[in-house]
Amino acid sequence: MLLVLLAAAVLALTPLPSFVSPDLPPPDADDAAPELPPPPPPRHQEDLVLGAGPLPPQSVVDPEAVLRRLDFLASPLEGARISMPDSHLPGAPREYRQGWHQGIDYYAGHSGIPIVWGQTPVLAAGPGEVVRADLDFVELTVAEREALLAECVRLQTTPASALDRLHGRQVWIMHPGGVLTRYSHLAGLAEGLREGQTVERGQLLGWVGNSGTAAAARGSREGAHLHFEIHLDGAPFWVGLSLDDLRTVLRELLDP
Ligand SMILES: [Zn+2]
Repeated sequence: MLLVLLAAAVLALTPLPSFVSPDLPPPDADDAAPELPPPPPPRHQEDLVLGAGPLPPQSVVDPEAVLRRLDFLASPLEGARISMPDSHLPGAPREYRQGWHQGIDYYAGHSGIPIVWGQTPVLAAGPGEVVRADLDFVELTVAEREALLAECVRLQTTPASALDRLHGRQVWIMHPGGVLTRYSHLAGLAEGLREGQTVERGQLLGWVGNSGTAAAARGSREGAHLHFEIHLDGAPFWVGLSLDDLRTVLRELLDP
């Protein structure tokens, strides 16, 4: 009996072991607080620039805020609709180069306007300064292009330098507010276009082409399309948007 009383006294004096993690709120915290989704995994800046990783199922940035920052832009092709097949949109896999699509493709048959190699005008999506104009572009040979793609497969990613070559003849425009637009696969540039030049929205930059593609390397004009990118603060604008919100933002921004 004495032993039992002693044991009871010891138990009473011993603090209860704590099973509560110090990270958890105290028991009297607001139990009704909603559970927040886990934050998205951090991504390396280079991954962002190369458009690595699929689009998140739900937006982790506010699509309205993105729209407000980009609402001065207009379509780079007069009267064209955004092409809605997933493969034409940012975030689509590009297995042939072990990477992801980081722009919007405008193809004939999907955009509501004729898109013809060397004839369809490409226009500045907004006012800004030309920061890149490939005046001396030289097309890849078939062998050079195949070597680039083999390197992508070997590295299991698309290095920035390879992606740049695969985009063919390009123009880039820096707009106010940290917005950059890029126009790729061009057949040619508008006469007199130069880096450092100021352009207005709707000003002619060049013509749709297929430079940088397999067809162009073969000397063909097949597959002409405009690859158009919008970057915000140095990364593709769609990073953090779901596919649904991306479609909504693109339609509101760029559709006629
Ligand atoms: Zn593209």
